[in-house]
Amino acid sequence: MERLESAAHVQERKTALIHRMRKAARERTVTLQKMLLLSDPFDRDAEGMRLNDLAGDFVAAREEYLGMPMDRSEEALLARQGRLSGIAVPIQRQVADLILSGQDAAARQLLVEQAIPAQDRVFAVLNRMAALQHERTAQALAEAREDYRLARNRLLQLGALVAVICILIAVYVTRRGGYIEARLAAERRRARQTLDCIGEGVVATTWDGRIEQINPIAASLLGCSTESALGRQIGALLKRRGMDAGGENLVRDLNQVLAGVAPGPVRGSTRVAGPGRGGRVIEYNIAAIGPAQGRLAGAILVLRDVTEQTRMAEKLAWQARYDALTGLYNRVEFDNRLEAALAEVRRYPQTRAWLCYIDLDQFKVVNDTSGHAAGDEYLKQVGNLLRAQVRETDLVARLGGDEFAILLSHCDAREARNLAERARDAILGLRFAWGSRSYSCGASIGMVPVRADAGSAQDLLSAADTACYVAKDAGRNRVHVYRDDEDAGDRHREMQWVHRIHSALEEDRFTLAFQPIVPLQGEADGQHLEVLVRMHDRSGRQIPPMAFIPAAERYHLMSRVDRWVVGAVLESLRRRNPAPKTLVAVNISAQSLSDEGFLDYILSCLSQPGMDPRWLCLEVTETAAIANLSRARTLMGRLRELGCSLALDDFGTGLSSFGYLRDLAVDYVKIDGAFVRDLHANPLHLELVRAIHRIGRVAGIRTVAECIDNAETMAAVRDVGIDYGQGFWFARPRPLEEFWRDAERASARSDHL
Ligand code: C2E
Ligand code: MG
Ligand code: MG
Repeated sequence: MERLESAAHVQERKTALIHRMRKAARERTVTLQKMLLLSDPFDRDAEGMRLNDLAGDFVAAREEYLGMPMDRSEEALLARQGRLSGIAVPIQRQVADLILSGQDAAARQLLVEQAIPAQDRVFAVLNRMAALQHERTAQALAEAREDYRLARNRLLQLGALVAVICILIAVYVTRRGGYIEARLAAERRRARQTLDCIGEGVVATTWDGRIEQINPIAASLLGCSTESALGRQIGALLKRRGMDAGGENLVRDLNQVLAGVAPGPVRGSTRVAGPGRGGRVIEYNIAAIGPAQGRLAGAILVLRDVTEQTRMAEKLAWQARYDALTGLYNRVEFDNRLEAALAEVRRYPQTRAWLCYIDLDQFKVVNDTSGHAAGDEYLKQVGNLLRAQVRETDLVARLGGDEFAILLSHCDAREARNLAERARDAILGLRFAWGSRSYSCGASIGMVPVRADAGSAQDLLSAADTACYVAKDAGRNRVHVYRDDEDAGDRHREMQWVHRIHSALEEDRFTLAFQPIVPLQGEADGQHLEVLVRMHDRSGRQIPPMAFIPAAERYHLMSRVDRWVVGAVLESLRRRNPAPKTLVAVNISAQSLSDEGFLDYILSCLSQPGMDPRWLCLEVTETAAIANLSRARTLMGRLRELGCSLALDDFGTGLSSFGYLRDLAVDYVKIDGAFVRDLHANPLHLELVRAIHRIGRVAGIRTVAECIDNAETMAAVRDVGIDYGQGFWFARPRPLEEFWRDAERASARSDHL
């Protein structure tokens, strides 16, 4: 009896340890899923620490288990669990590292494809171990019963031989029997309590599938009370709850285990009716209870509610393939589909497919002026629109930011072109309203045929991207079909520019020119000029800004050029110390506006001794200011506080120009040359310039007309009332040094007089 008692005690402890290991292992998977759903890096880090705690807990439980007596099959199972954990744990750690380094998509993929399946294999072994313990408990009980039966029989035989001894023995047996019954009842109670505190549902059935024991968790999963379940068939209970094909699987698996057909424990899952969409998902493990008297005694079912994990896994699996914002395919899935399309084209060369790469023009304006919520909504609408334009067999994806892609299958060049044009038209026609603003952005589309000799999916995407870039360069809102020779050549030429700009910066081959800005309605009140940058090649030849600025902007070099210009201009102002009313305008690119350190750089130049911030006027083009509205406001506001002036350059070429005059407190508006040049001959431009001037006057902003290069234009501009003029008619750009020389001469002359 004592042996039975201590064996029961050991089994009870082992069951608790297995439960603890399962709990720690399960929580590690849940913690990883939670880390993915959290956005705050500190929260993620905290969850990452929890992963380690859970590992510690798991190891402690396992160590204790290892210190307990075990038989061969337990040792084998524990060794197997150790090997499987040795595979699962490094993958989980890899997932955690990916999440902590912000690579969510890769982490999600690794989690779904490798970490969860690896952990599931560990669970399977732990489940087997738990089932083994139940089996052992049941066997111990069966053995005790058998002991009891044999003892009684033997005593009855002895009683027939020796009556007196029989009476004595009978007394003894009765006492002994009472004692055994009491111990059995105690064991049953203990087993019952163990069952009740296990975190999983456990059901023991008889050989014919009737429920013999059931704990409260299992009863709640099956939707009944423990009392009402006893003696009933599990299939009947499930049928009452409503179940899918999985439920039938459970009944079939149980029957197979009871019939001894299944070779080992059987594992599966089933969906039963429950709260929420899709009901509850129950995972089950079924193991046979060892044979007694030549047939199986019954089966043990371990049931686990995995609804939450299943939902999370489904969500993660969805996120791994789809873009959360638009519901379109994401980049990873699109790459896979593209690879598949390429493989098909290689197998059946007559197949025709096309890839379109779409980049929205001016999307940044929506984001910067109306905020990210507006940007997101706009992208959603574009996504829906694209889906509506293409055929059902085509694939639409969002590759990231404002970039989309379409894979057109089974379609020739003409049809593909028509579809791309239709998509472009539709995007242009989308009037997107947000608050008081409304937007309409075009799209630049690059197309490339999916051919057998196209290389990889990556090569195809990069060719389509190049074609899209050519479409942008040609004036945006157009479709361009990739041509190997020309397009790749254009990119190559651009890259050469990058090299040239780099070496010009390193070898200090930039100089400054200036052009005067002349008052048109009265006498000059101090000197006013614009500084223009010039680059020189190694042979000293001058390269105009419009030849290298687009490449410098595209490859993020313009901010360095701007810093060089601002530094050189402010240094020469400090050295020359011109008259207080001198105003020198410097151009600032969009990139410098969005460069966080640029403002600090100007401020540090302005704080040099001998500097007067009133000498400096910054010119920002209207499109750059709108595209970086909040940065532009900060930079302009700060410089204005110090006494610098501000000008909105190339005015009229941007979007809804007038609205932004109020937003950006500028001193000057420079009307773009495109409207000024033919002012005397183009009534539309004349009206526009008049309107700009009128609004400027109301807002207290002075107007400058750019590109005045003949007398008629000059007269027309003056007639309108424009305050200042700039252009070849007054002076062509000359080296800045000449301005200082002229200024010194003029001041010497006035001293002389
Ligand atoms: P912008 O700021 O509008 O400068 C005026 C441009 O118009 C200058 O061209 C000037 O030479 C040209 N221009 C002036 N009067 C006339 C005229 O009567 N007829 C014609 N056809 N053109 C005239 P430039 O120097 O080639 O500069 C072109 C653009 O490059 C500038 O336009 C400005 O946006 C940019 N840029 C020039 N220097 C810098 C710089 O230091 N930094 C930055 N970020 N951009 C610069
Ligand atoms: Mg300018
Ligand atoms: Mg301009």
